[in-house]
Amino acid sequence: MPAISARKPYRIGRSRTGLGLFATRKIKKGTRIIRYFGPMLDCKKPKDDAIDNKYLFEITSRWTIDGSVRRNTARYINHACKPNAESDVKTKKRRVYIRAIKAIHPGDEINYDYGTDYFKEFLKPIGCKCDACEKKRAKKRAEARAEKLRLRRKAEKKALKKSEKAKRKLEKAKAKKLKFNAAHPHARGSGKPSKTKSARTKSFVSRPAKSPALANRASST
Ligand SMILES: [Zn+2]
Repeated sequence: MPAISARKPYRIGRSRTGLGLFATRKIKKGTRIIRYFGPMLDCKKPKDDAIDNKYLFEITSRWTIDGSVRRNTARYINHACKPNAESDVKTKKRRVYIRAIKAIHPGDEINYDYGTDYFKEFLKPIGCKCDACEKKRAKKRAEARAEKLRLRRKAEKKALKKSEKAKRKLEKAKAKKLKFNAAHPHARGSGKPSKTKSARTKSFVSRPAKSPALANRASST
């Protein structure tokens, strides 16, 4: 890691994707934070044009900064879709500065938008890990969870309604039977008796047949 002077308002630290650049002091909006620098590549030279890495910063169609050098502390700045800094390109001087586009507070990670080409080539395939994209993903996950819960509650409500309806039906049938029994007090078993009921009725009926015998026995003694 390159040594950073204590006068600088940033330090290299752990970020979600590896290392990143973090503010150590408040950085006012519009402040030039750091220069993005490295060897100047001329795409007209085949040797320069052959160089390929993730830290190339194209200034014009001809000139590109090779920011992969260790001394280029700005290369630690990660991409963000909703950043707090931007790249300020001075094409004539072929210089690039990273500038705050909002107030950056101590501890905040410094980010800038790497641009659509970089995003499409390097970030989209693996999924952007910036705060805005992580938040978006978290929101989607929460929405999916809420939808799942909503569907479960709906199914539960439906099942409850169904069981209540069945209960009501059963109670209605019971009430109907009670009403019938009240209207026909001697119709017990003569209506539509179940098998067990008819058996019970039979045993009840058979009892008086026995009693004369008992009476006979009682009279004989
Ligand atoms: Zn993002």
